[in-house]
Amino acid sequence: MARVYNFSAGPSMLPEEVLKTAANEMLEYGSTGQSVMEMSHRSKEYDAIIKQAEADLRDIMNIPDNYEVLFLQGGASTQFAMVPLNLMNKNHKADYIITGQWANKAYKEAARYGNARAVASSADKTYSYIPKTTAADFDKEADYVHICMNNTIYGTKFHQLPDVGNIPLVADISSCILSEPIDVSKFGVLYAGAQKNVAPAGVTIVIIRKDLIGNAMDITPTMLNYQTHADNASMFNTPPCYSIYVAGLVFKWIKKVGGLEAMKKINEDKAKILYDFLDMSKMFKGTVVPEDRSLMNVPFVTGSDELDAKFVAEAKANGFVNIKGHRSVGGMRASIYNAMPIDGVKKLVEFMKKFEEENA
Ligand SMILES: *Cc1c(COP(=O)(O)O)cnc(C)c1O
Repeated sequence: MARVYNFSAGPSMLPEEVLKTAANEMLEYGSTGQSVMEMSHRSKEYDAIIKQAEADLRDIMNIPDNYEVLFLQGGASTQFAMVPLNLMNKNHKADYIITGQWANKAYKEAARYGNARAVASSADKTYSYIPKTTAADFDKEADYVHICMNNTIYGTKFHQLPDVGNIPLVADISSCILSEPIDVSKFGVLYAGAQKNVAPAGVTIVIIRKDLIGNAMDITPTMLNYQTHADNASMFNTPPCYSIYVAGLVFKWIKKVGGLEAMKKINEDKAKILYDFLDMSKMFKGTVVPEDRSLMNVPFVTGSDELDAKFVAEAKANGFVNIKGHRSVGGMRASIYNAMPIDGVKKLVEFMKKFEEENA
């Protein structure tokens, strides 16, 4: 068996150690005689799994007690509706910063439920930078301000949060959750689909300040009301049991690695190897302004569609898969989430150097 280096933007790599544990526990979890997939979500064994996962996540992210942690379904995309349905109910206004397709989808969804306003956008330059804002740009009456913290498709990241004063800040952290420490207390809501940095697709993590729960619009479906899930400890209905179990294994793995400070250091080292090469290469160029570069998603181009296609094909033949860029940016994109080992990035850069020499 030969595992490839998988640079997919999502679903993406999981730590090999986690996959091995899951494999070992596949037929029998503990001494239950059954797999986690087959277990009642109301059993005491499963209750311990979900509670431990929540406790470990709280520990790793240092989540304050006045925040709920919810394990939901529907992906980050369902949060695009859930956030306005639950939060846009005081002044019926919300401000959005448009930094890419995901941010734009969130904005459009919110506009169905109230006055969503696009405060700033980087669409003019294919979202290759994070637009600057000041406190004066935001509507003081906005029920919240929404950002997409790490822009998976374009490879940008908010390295500094916008100054939104007392307005609750809501962030989609699908592609940067657990990649580095984050000050949860600066946010009203954080949400993330699991399939980039946490677990197989299925679970969506929501971290929400408790005072923001309980003010949903009357039209809000029961399943889309945060209150429903907060009141039932994410067990109102059957949760995505297996995905939560794997998330729990990933949380334990992060603890073993040394927590989010250690994770950040590793991610910075990995990204630096790739960005340093892009800055020096005559063939490959990064597409993002240096100050807004993501640690997780690194898009790059050669400037020639033909050469890009050749590179993607040869990379694949050499065990570097899913490196083709998103159609809206073109070229290549290397997603180097937590589970991508540093060797994967080193070997990719060696391969890029060789390709550059051979095709100069
Ligand atoms: C992948 C992604 C999404 C979509 O997630 P789903 O779970 O597929 O709905 C939304 N936002 C960001 C930033 C993403 O990377």
